[in-house]
Amino acid sequence: MNEMKKVALVTGSGKGIGRAVAIELARRGVAVAINYSRSEDAARETAEMIRSEGGVCGLFRADVSNSLEVHGLFEAIRDSLGPVSILVNNAGITRDALLMRMKDEDWRHVLSLNLEGAFLCSREGLRDMTRARWGRIVNISSVVGIIGNPGQANYCASKAGLLGLTKSIAREYGMRGITANAVAPGWIETDMTAVLKPEIREAMLKSVPAGRPGRPEDVAAVVAFLASEEASYVNGQTIAVDGGMTMV
Ligand code: NAD
Repeated sequence: MNEMKKVALVTGSGKGIGRAVAIELARRGVAVAINYSRSEDAARETAEMIRSEGGVCGLFRADVSNSLEVHGLFEAIRDSLGPVSILVNNAGITRDALLMRMKDEDWRHVLSLNLEGAFLCSREGLRDMTRARWGRIVNISSVVGIIGNPGQANYCASKAGLLGLTKSIAREYGMRGITANAVAPGWIETDMTAVLKPEIREAMLKSVPAGRPGRPEDVAAVVAFLASEEASYVNGQTIAVDGGMTMV
């Protein structure tokens, strides 16, 4: 049915940045696999938003930090939409604490979803992409993976790790029509940042030349470009979407 459409998997696309990416890709004619681990209602809402605009999508439950579930996820997508040729590793969590107080499980949990999840999905996705000799991997890192952040050693390590993963995939698969790039959002208004205290928000706002927090759509536009045909000569890069906050 969707033979002509490219198929994208956006992990954790029930809400936030992932939802905006899924919607943007669907607008550009891509069939989108919406992945969620727990909140099916939010994922359904994303699907309804896409379908109401005439887009094509499917819902796929899987914990992307679980190797077996990731294998099943790609199989299920292949069966219903077709092989994945665009992978957006977006699912991510925070478990903040100062390093000396950080619990083993908070370190492991963040690394296992944010970094290992991206590895598991990339390994699985690359099978289909190498077969098709075309693919796009976009990893959602963070500016704090570049500059660090107190209280987020686990999160920053996972996001810095994604940059190494991105560059290694870019070098390994560049000859096969596959690119891997990273997007490093700054402060984007989603549930993840809604918990920030007003004084922290004010301080952050002062450090953003754009004078406003980012929107999920600001990130989605850059992801969609990196996932496009036009971006075929952009490989192994990290693009900050942070209103000028870091300028590294
Ligand atoms: P969010 O909390 O709104 O979304 C995170 C998504 O990940 C949710 O849909 C959640 O259901 C999903 N998820 C969690 N565990 C999962 C699992 N095991 N398997 C599959 N999906 C799972 O947050 P967001 O701000 O939209 O974050 C999206 C990405 O952007 C994350 O990787 C985050 O680290 C990154 N990011 C966000 C900001 C920001 O300011 N919001 C800044 C930099 C980077």
